[in-house]
Parts: sequence; C-alpha cells; structure tokens
Amino acid sequence: MRRQQAILEGLDMGALDEVGRLTQERQPQNEGPYRLKGNLRHAKDDACGFEVLDTFERFNQSNDIYTRGQWDSRIRSEKVLNWFKGMFKTGLGVRNADGYSVRDFALRNAGWMGANLTIQRSLHQGRVDGFLDYIQPYSEPNAEQVAVESPAAMAEEIKRVSRLFGADGVGITHSDPRWHYTHSFATKALAEKPYAIPEGLPNVIVIVTSMHYDAVKCYPSATAGIAVGHGYSRDCELVQSIATYILNLGYRAIASVNDSSLAIPYAIQAGLGEYGRNGLLITKDFGPRVRIGRIHTDLPLGHDEPIRFGVREFCDTTCRRCADACPPKAIPQGPPTEVIPNQSSIIGIRKWQIDAEKCFKFWVNQATECGICMRVCPYNKDISRWWSRWYYRAWQRLAASPFKKLALWLDVKLKFGERMKPSQFWQQFRSR
Ligand code: SF4
Ligand code: SF4
Repeated sequence: MRRQQAILEGLDMGALDEVGRLTQERQPQNEGPYRLKGNLRHAKDDACGFEVLDTFERFNQSNDIYTRGQWDSRIRSEKVLNWFKGMFKTGLGVRNADGYSVRDFALRNAGWMGANLTIQRSLHQGRVDGFLDYIQPYSEPNAEQVAVESPAAMAEEIKRVSRLFGADGVGITHSDPRWHYTHSFATKALAEKPYAIPEGLPNVIVIVTSMHYDAVKCYPSATAGIAVGHGYSRDCELVQSIATYILNLGYRAIASVNDSSLAIPYAIQAGLGEYGRNGLLITKDFGPRVRIGRIHTDLPLGHDEPIRFGVREFCDTTCRRCADACPPKAIPQGPPTEVIPNQSSIIGIRKWQIDAEKCFKFWVNQATECGICMRVCPYNKDISRWWSRWYYRAWQRLAASPFKKLALWLDVKLKFGERMKPSQFWQQFRSR
C-alpha cells in the first residue's frame, strides 16, 4: 500500500520542484556525443522493411509521450496526471456511459494488477520496473553453467519453454543498439538518467502475447482496457519466468517490457511480423492485437529471419481503415516519410509516422487508452476456431495477391472490425 502511495505521490504537482528536472526550456538531450559510430544500417534492414537514414538518432526515453505527460507542460495537466493515477486509484474516469461504469474500470484495473506488482517492486529504489527501467533479476546466474552445444537447439528449447509459460509467439535476434534509448527517465525527479541495460548481452528473445479479441472489439471504452492491462500483466510474468529459467542455467538474462528499448523493431527483426500504417507490429496470427516483451541474454542462441507476408504493400496501396477510423487523425493517409510530427517520434527513419501527441490527448479525454486502430485493422482476426483460422489464412493470401481491393471489400462487407457495445460484451460474458 505504501508503495502504491509512492506512485501517486510521484505524480503530484509537488514533484515539479525537484532539481535537474526537465522543462520546456531544459529539453532532453539529443543523441550528440552518444551518437552511434560506424554504419547505421544492418544487413537485415531490407528484409525488415527498415529505411534507416544518415540522420538517424537513437531515441531518448524522456521524449516518449508518457514521460512527457509527466515533465512537459505542453502535455502535463491535472487531467493527464489523473489519467496515470486512474490505473491505481479506484473510481477515476467513471461516468454514466456504456463502457465507462464502475464495473468497466474495475475490470480494466484488475487486468493491470500483475503489471502493477512488477511496477511496485523497485519503486523504493526510484525504479519503475518493466515500464521505465528493465526488470531487475531476482538472482545472480547459477555459478554452474549448463553447456550449450548448439545455439539452434537451445533456441528451440527457449521457444518451447516460452510457449509453456504462455507466449503466443517467440522470435530471437541479435542485440541492436539502434533500438536502445540514449537515456532513461527518472519519474520522481522528472529528469534524465543514464541508460542502463548492461553490456555484453548479444541475444534478444522477443515474445508476443495476444490480447483478448472481444475486449479489443469494444474500443473505445474502459471495458477494452482489460485487453491492454492483462496483456501487460501476462508479459511481465512471462519475461520474468523466461529470464529466471536462463539465470538458473547459469547465464545472464534481463527481462524487459515497455522500458529501455523500442519493442517493435526488435519484434520485426526477430521474425514476428511487419510494421503497419497504424504504427503497430502486425503479426501473422493476431495482426496488431499483441503486446511485446524482451529478454536480453548471453545464452548462446540461434537467430530467426524477418518475415514478409504482404502487410506493407497492403497498407501502402489499398487500405486506410486505421487512418480513416482514428478520431484525432493521428495516423497518416500518405506514404512513409522521415518528417516527424513532434519530438515523440524517432529521428531518421522513413516510416508511417504516428502523431503521439494527438493520440495521447484522445486517450486522456477518454480517461483510458484507445485501440480503435487495432480493432479495425483487417489483420486483427480471431483464430481460436478452425474455421476462423482457415478464413484468416485464406484472407491473408488474398490481401497479398493482386486482388487486394477485393480483400478489403470482403473485410468491410463481413463487418470485421465493427465495434461491439460494452453492454453486449458483458451480456456475452455473463451467459458463458
Ligand atoms: S490508439 Fe486511437 S487515437 Fe491513437 S492512433 Fe490508434 S485510433 Fe488513433
Ligand atoms: S488498418 Fe489497414 S492500413 Fe491500417 S495497419 Fe491495418 S492493414 Fe494497414
């Protein structure tokens, strides 16, 4: 309880008086002296669909829209602070509307509980494990190291272990400093602090967990928030379980969820999907309806290759559903570009640029998060039944063929992506 109170206090206006805090005048440092040396491009970039330019700069966590919501007076407000507090404090955001009742927020906040336990673990050390800082290991690696004869066989073992704990997808890639932050953010001091993932961990295990299909159908609403909250809770548990397995084998392992590095490029490099117009990872099985976790390790592991299954071409030439449906118009209608909408975007990558300021403002006005661009994406399908799995595979082949317009027409005609009323969600839930 005392730790929970510490989170709320950290979000009080009083914290603004801390020395060294970031302000509009004292902005986060750019890459400057931390600039990566040598070739900024990697041999697998083409296969990943990455267009990394000479102007590339690594991202400073203090520019992330959630951290700006704490230090940047253009973003920070009483409403924004209440938005953060709403994850922990009962009753915030409740109103007389379908999807925003006490019960809807109760379900959302209950979904976050596992993640909240991880967050609270190291708050007394000024760390926000899993969200601003990597999750501290529970123990040192076993002094007796298990021999690894084949990195490929060990990769298979790690994938089996990950699935045993509930991962819906696992890929493995090399550590890539381009996706690591230049600085981390200290939430109590509202200031920058040094980036902290330890050196000498050459491999990254990337896991995805799927989010609840029917809950996602309820976006926008607090009811849908269980999909995100529970997704994070599952992620927190999973990455710590996998890291603990590796530590017990005698190797180093750092579990990470929403902290320290950019999750989407890592997932693409690890062969888990492609980048979509909506700024999300599009996976083969669940489309954009996933959360992403990582484990950095020195356990010898074979790597996966990036995959392409037609997403980029479909978003590029045919589909605009996410951009059309986004209420604040935060998703571009045009082609990928290197022009960034504001400081919450990474510099020097040509891609579809999401306007995080517009997106976050909409979230705050809802008193919960939004996922409309996830709901309407034609790659978001339920594959839990054999016939829906069969349909989705056939649809994917059509979307990757010259008949892309037919694929989009079919998706709209069959009413995929339409919103489910939260009251209907509860009705179905009770009748199960
Ligand atoms: S989450 Fe909502 S507001 Fe943000 S980009 Fe997606 S549709 Fe737009
Ligand atoms: S909704 Fe359409 S344009 Fe947007 S990410 Fe999905 S497939 Fe691409």
